[in-house]
Amino acid sequence: MKPNIAIIGAGLAGLTLARELNEHADITLFEKARGLGGRMSTRRRGEHRWDHGAQFFTARSHTFKALLKPYIESSVVVEWQPNITTLSPEQPPYKRPWFEPHYVATPGMNSLLKTMSTGLNITLQTRVEKLRQEAGKWQLFDDKSEPLGEFDWVISSAPLPQTEVLLPFKPADWAGFGMQPCYALMLKVEDGELPVWDAARVNDSPLGWIAFNHRLPGRNRNFGTVVAHSTSSWAETHLEDDQDSVREQLTAEFCMLTGVKATSVLEAHLHRWRYALATEVEGEPVGYVLDAKRKLAACGDWCLGGQVESAFTSAHQLAARLRADACNA
Ligand SMILES: Cc1cc2nc3c(=O)[nH]c(=O)nc-3n(C[C@H](O)[C@H](O)[C@H](O)COP(=O)(O)OP(=O)(O)OC[C@H]3O[C@@H](n4cnc5c(N)ncnc54)[C@H](O)[C@@H]3O)c2cc1C
Repeated sequence: MKPNIAIIGAGLAGLTLARELNEHADITLFEKARGLGGRMSTRRRGEHRWDHGAQFFTARSHTFKALLKPYIESSVVVEWQPNITTLSPEQPPYKRPWFEPHYVATPGMNSLLKTMSTGLNITLQTRVEKLRQEAGKWQLFDDKSEPLGEFDWVISSAPLPQTEVLLPFKPADWAGFGMQPCYALMLKVEDGELPVWDAARVNDSPLGWIAFNHRLPGRNRNFGTVVAHSTSSWAETHLEDDQDSVREQLTAEFCMLTGVKATSVLEAHLHRWRYALATEVEGEPVGYVLDAKRKLAACGDWCLGGQVESAFTSAHQLAARLRADACNA
């Protein structure tokens, strides 16, 4: 009989795992958010969209390139060749070309995940809060203590701190992994007011990255939408600050760096990513965390140092292991 597997989280790692195990197991995905995407989400407000998590990704391994191939052929994923610059408060801007393909999903970053989710059994707006093992099965409960079902295996693809509190592993099992925060500032600015470049790496500033989101391929170019990411160290220092004050400080920094007048900023929104970017894994990366005896596992970008491709690779490696073991038991 096929094992019954619960996967927590419908970001790229959770969806990759579900797709790769779907024929070998009965899979249910639980996602706490209203929509798919995780840290590849797209924020929508009226006609405006901001890709406020990952803005692009690279593909280096053969397996990730193979996953992307049909999506590139159908233009769900396209190469992004921005006019990219480097900014610093102290130095004049200089060009910083990319030397490998960088990809974006269209019309929003979450479009890749929406397309990948076809045919999967996904329960949205459901936060898994507790697990309990009874008679060899895992019972899952949501944040209102309502039961979510009984499963042979539970796999979390949530960011490390959210996985750590859910899965009963020993603290030592999480050693070597870490995650850092980031603020995403989302602005609406008339396109005519913006500089000619499309994106900038920023040095010596609370901001580390600025992109004119509407100039990414496949976006609505009628409105200027800006995404600016803070550095992780600035976010860490200001994580619990008043959020209006954080938004104002980062907006002022954006205006100073780009020369855009404060009066040209028509809207400003802020998103605090508490668990944004994974730190380098200490020691030899294993790709996932697994307890085959208790039938628990975890995967995600944080297992391999954190990037879109890391999320895919971690889930892909765990799926191979589970197909060999759990699904053949
Ligand atoms: C600001 C920012 C900028 C980035 N820039 C880049 C970049 O330029 N290039 C790049 O390659 N990568 C970038 N990344 C990293 C990239 O977004 C991630 O590596 C990747 O999206 C992680 O995918 P994942 O599936 O591992 O995790 P996630 O996308 O975080 O998915 C985990 C899912 O689990 C859900 N979840 C958590 N807890 C629960 C629970 N208890 N119950 C149910 N669901 C739960 C979450 O809602 C989420 O949807 C960036 C990330 C951020 C935040």
